Amino acid sequence: MTKALILLLLLGLTAIAEATEQSLRPGGIAMIDLGAASDPAPAVTHAGKPVLVMLADDRWIAVVGIPLDAKAGELTIDVADYEVKITIAEHAYREQRLTVENKSFVEQNQEQLDRIWSERKIIDAVLNSFTAVPVDGVSLQAPLKGAQSSSFGYRRFFNDQPRSPHKGMDISAANGEPIAAARGGVIAASGDFFFNGNTVLVDHGQGFVTMYCHMSEIDVVEGQAISVGDIIGAVGATGRVTGPHLHFGTYLNGTAVDPAILLD
Ligand SMILES: [Zn+2]
Repeated sequence: MTKALILLLLLGLTAIAEATEQSLRPGGIAMIDLGAASDPAPAVTHAGKPVLVMLADDRWIAVVGIPLDAKAGELTIDVADYEVKITIAEHAYREQRLTVENKSFVEQNQEQLDRIWSERKIIDAVLNSFTAVPVDGVSLQAPLKGAQSSSFGYRRFFNDQPRSPHKGMDISAANGEPIAAARGGVIAASGDFFFNGNTVLVDHGQGFVTMYCHMSEIDVVEGQAISVGDIIGAVGATGRVTGPHLHFGTYLNGTAVDPAILLD
């Protein structure tokens, strides 16, 4: 899909609108042509958060993550001194009901809540960071060969209690299978988190972040520069899981977007 997108980017503005039409939904991505790159890159924000602007075929392209809780209808993107309106399509994500045996994953005590809160702050700090480096694309290589589920956006219930929607793609794989970085970047954070288990967050620049969860081991350290395909750890079943798999999350302007849109 990304290859098609890049091809269409090369074909020009009309093609871009067509290419991204199908992902103009909550959890999708909008690509907005901001004009010739002979001028400096304009500053772009959405909902007060800075937006990635990349160079493609001598044009500036804003790559906007559309929040999962965005309502169908018009969405405003702020570009320097003007606004761009995009129309978001309705999208009904499926419902998923899970029964979890370990009660602490459904209801937490104060100590666990404190831990979750401090971990949330670490993760949010990375997702809302904006490293002002040039970004030359947003396509991603699959972090492992396993079957990619279409579980992004699932509205989840654990033991019949509503929980936040599923903000990533689950890729099934055996315990210990190596996980490769989906794109070059810098390790922004890693740790053993209550829900996400062993987790690595990679900063690809300008708020573009990938997240890898439930790992059995972590082979990188914070601040380390990595290239696409570098092994960052191995598949596991740490955190809130029912079995070994990789939870793969992709983020733009602080919001989770469907990894399927970005994967080659
Ligand atoms: Zn998951």
